[in-house]
Amino acid sequence: MVFLRLADLTRHGTDILFPHCCAACGKKLFGISERKICENCSGDITFLQHPVCRICGMELVGDKVRENLCGECLGNPPPFLLARSVVRYSTPVQKLLYGLKYGKDTSVLPGIAEIISHFDMALFDQCDYVLPVPLHPRRLRQRGLNQSVLLAKIFFQERAQTILNANSLLRTRNTVPQTTLDGGMRRKNLKGAFAMVNKVGIGEKIVCLVDDVYTTGTTVTECSRVLLYHGAREVRVLTLTRVKMAQCSS
Ligand SMILES: [Zn+2]
Ligand SMILES: [Zn+2]
Repeated sequence: MVFLRLADLTRHGTDILFPHCCAACGKKLFGISERKICENCSGDITFLQHPVCRICGMELVGDKVRENLCGECLGNPPPFLLARSVVRYSTPVQKLLYGLKYGKDTSVLPGIAEIISHFDMALFDQCDYVLPVPLHPRRLRQRGLNQSVLLAKIFFQERAQTILNANSLLRTRNTVPQTTLDGGMRRKNLKGAFAMVNKVGIGEKIVCLVDDVYTTGTTVTECSRVLLYHGAREVRVLTLTRVKMAQCSS
């Protein structure tokens, strides 16, 4: 049984009559109307902790963090200048993205925006263009939306109106989902899978690539190669979440 004070009834009358739900788990959110994600889910969402690898953004642990480079970036640096993610991959984040990607459930967007609102965009202020990682046209038709386009709009807010370009980078092959493959196969799967169809504008520009999940970086690496080949000055990568766990620094 839930007891509510009269003041709560007045203040949150709308919530009581029409309670909104946690964007991640669906639990009813009585009386905390400004929150989009319930306390339980919020407790399971962890923002990436510094120090991170200054190139790929992986969290670093251990004593030797002066170089701020992970082993992979030290030995084989990626073509993009830097990549950053907002939160670690966790069940609530997975649920938010799953609803969006596979259920066309745009009601999760305010929840995602709530998470992103805590992220410092300073490293992306100078970006001239924002390009979301594209879906193959066939997959886009099946799903009805590209989650990376929606994330780019949340990340860049009103700036997205002028710098978002969702039509220039194209996925030319309908590849097998990367999640089903290991490292070597991921690279093979995406080799030559992206192309520029409209090069206007990116020459000598700083381009931000937006994707939902950073796993091994293969997708954004392939996209970056295409953008740099077509004249982009540098590529910065922004993803909502990052799968790979912290690594000792080199
Ligand atoms: Zn929840
Ligand atoms: Zn790294």
